[in-house]
Amino acid sequence: MIQKRMFVLLMITGIHLAIASGAAVAQDQGGRGGRGRGAAAADPVKTATQIKPDLWYIADGGANSVVEVTPEGLILGDTKNPGAEIETAFIAEIKSISPLPVKYVFNTHPHGDHISHNQYFIDHGATVIGLKHLKELWESGNLNSTPGKPTVLFDKDYDLKFGGAEVEAHYFGSAHTDADTIVFFKTKKLVMLSDLVNYANPSPGISGTNAVQVPGILDKVLKLDFDTAIAGRGPLLTRADVQAYQRTWDTFMTRVKDAIKAGATKETLASQVKQDDLFSPGLKAPWAFNANFFSQLFDALKANPNGEPRQAE
Ligand SMILES: [Zn+2]
Repeated sequence: MIQKRMFVLLMITGIHLAIASGAAVAQDQGGRGGRGRGAAAADPVKTATQIKPDLWYIADGGANSVVEVTPEGLILGDTKNPGAEIETAFIAEIKSISPLPVKYVFNTHPHGDHISHNQYFIDHGATVIGLKHLKELWESGNLNSTPGKPTVLFDKDYDLKFGGAEVEAHYFGSAHTDADTIVFFKTKKLVMLSDLVNYANPSPGISGTNAVQVPGILDKVLKLDFDTAIAGRGPLLTRADVQAYQRTWDTFMTRVKDAIKAGATKETLASQVKQDDLFSPGLKAPWAFNANFFSQLFDALKANPNGEPRQAE
């Protein structure tokens, strides 16, 4: 058990180091991305999978991407890790869906595995629409040299109507980064939750600082009229999966608050909250947040007991 737990902690620590340390800023979470060919070999772009008529997703190469086809062109959510091999395979999959050009691109957050081929689509006539704060984090973080920053910016909400399709983008709060964008393919009833849920990890990959906002974000997500959701990695989710994920978070936060009421301190909170019966949808490994996470969560709950989102500046 100890070995398993160590493995889980290493997974969290390795992939979400910057986030676990409380710095919810732009990071090349893909990590392997800069190595190009190696990234593709380790995590090749998968064959496009149809979700519904005129709606597809393309897995891996960093993260899930979504493509909606309209008679006037394509709308794309997230553009994968850098690297020529990934770009070639990604473009080939998109062209296998439709010969029409990508006209609009949305990014779910400023991590390298979600933004790195924006420039290709800009060069081929696309407009990148993004949260103002996404651009700011991108410019202030280690991705500043990555081209393809959004050119059409919005504060909190954006509504694109194009080719008979409607796609909304919303900032509902900071869960995985301070620029998390929920991309809602409204006409198709599909929502991109991105790394608010991430199947690559046995925990949702959320810092203690930001965890306090997650229940409120999920409330807002569940007000959207969707029947299908997609995480940053892994298979499609149903609405029931997202509801179950929300219930798990509610259980967890209730336990945390009860433990604090019962006298848990910043130092002891981790040992006073049961996690080994909490699972993200579809995952076999239980949640295993570490002591640093709980220490951050303790402070965050003191500062923000109701979990209101910070203002996206
Ligand atoms: Zn991420």
